[in-house]
Amino acid sequence: MTSMLAVSQPRFVDLLPPTLQTIPEAIGKNVALARARTRSQIMAVVKADGYGHGAVTVARAAIAAGAEWLGTTDIAEASRLRAAGLTVPILTWLNPSGVDVEAAASSRIDVAVGSVDELEALLRQTSPTALRVHLNMDTGMAREGCPAHEWDALIARAREGERRGKVRLVGLMGHLPLADLADPAANAPAVSRMRQARTAVIAAGLDVPLTHLAATSGTLTDPATHFGMVRFGAGLVGIDPSGSTELHGASRLTAPIVHSAAVEAGTPVGYGGTYVTAHSTNLSILPVGYADGIPREISPEASVEIRERRYRVVARVSMDQIVIDTGAEHVPLGTTATVFGPEGGVAPTIRDWARWAGTIPHTIVTGIGPRVRRTIA
Ligand SMILES: *Cc1c(COP(=O)(O)O)cnc(C)c1O
Repeated sequence: MTSMLAVSQPRFVDLLPPTLQTIPEAIGKNVALARARTRSQIMAVVKADGYGHGAVTVARAAIAAGAEWLGTTDIAEASRLRAAGLTVPILTWLNPSGVDVEAAASSRIDVAVGSVDELEALLRQTSPTALRVHLNMDTGMAREGCPAHEWDALIARAREGERRGKVRLVGLMGHLPLADLADPAANAPAVSRMRQARTAVIAAGLDVPLTHLAATSGTLTDPATHFGMVRFGAGLVGIDPSGSTELHGASRLTAPIVHSAAVEAGTPVGYGGTYVTAHSTNLSILPVGYADGIPREISPEASVEIRERRYRVVARVSMDQIVIDTGAEHVPLGTTATVFGPEGGVAPTIRDWARWAGTIPHTIVTGIGPRVRRTIA
């Protein structure tokens, strides 16, 4: 009796709220694909909350699949990984709030240094343990790395810091500006600069540091960029900026239908009435909008999956909701729609959403808002 009532009259508490489900198995498969392309160590880059997929979840899955290192942008992100019990080495490369050397050293969180000024700031602090540093050399990006004319000064200062027991040089890093082209010739100047930096470090009498240059695209397309370690980030969650490899989408974004209504032909829908129904039709509302990461500027092809079929997103994307035109189908309240999911299903993929929004998949996954519930498959 009770269950019949529940079936015919779903209560609001029965709605499954908007949910981003992370799929660890897919992350493991992506690490295996990277492993098949390189003999170097693999750093799992889990910045920006693991590209929106949950940093700890992604990190655990990547380590279980054989990744040896973790990488984040800053120490706050790295500390959360340590607090979750992850013990592998972690590198951070940009610390907007500065570096508490003692805290970083005692948590064994490595810090990349991209200028003499940054290194001096670290050397001014006192710490009972030496801070593990990686020299971050500009290999053609003019972003956070040290410009070539300053390399010798940086290396000399690092050597002095080592003698005084303040820092320990662990790594040498660069970053590839053109790896997405999937053309080894485009990477050659950066590879050559990385080799020069390495030679200069060794010539200064420092131990041979762990050298790392490649991110996802370099890992998948150009072994000459691998050196001792690759930094694999986007690829963990199925994004391949080089377009060379079929990786596995590692998440599914679902939302319940919270309202359905039949409307007449000629009905303007949403803000500005920018969409006017051509025929009598059914509209369904999903409680996710641009505050949840649904891009506001999308092409008319944008769609979601409901009960194994694709339906178009129509009208303007609101802050909290989108409207789906389900045509002749009246979709019951509480039915789950899939906004995106892994490749190979009926649901759109993250790549589809990036195309519809005229952006890259990275902005879709890192844009998923805090109201969306997170689960692990
Ligand atoms: C984000 C980032 C990476 C990872 O890049 P992907 O293309 O996402 O694999 C590697 N290194 C640095 C310095 C980064 O900022």
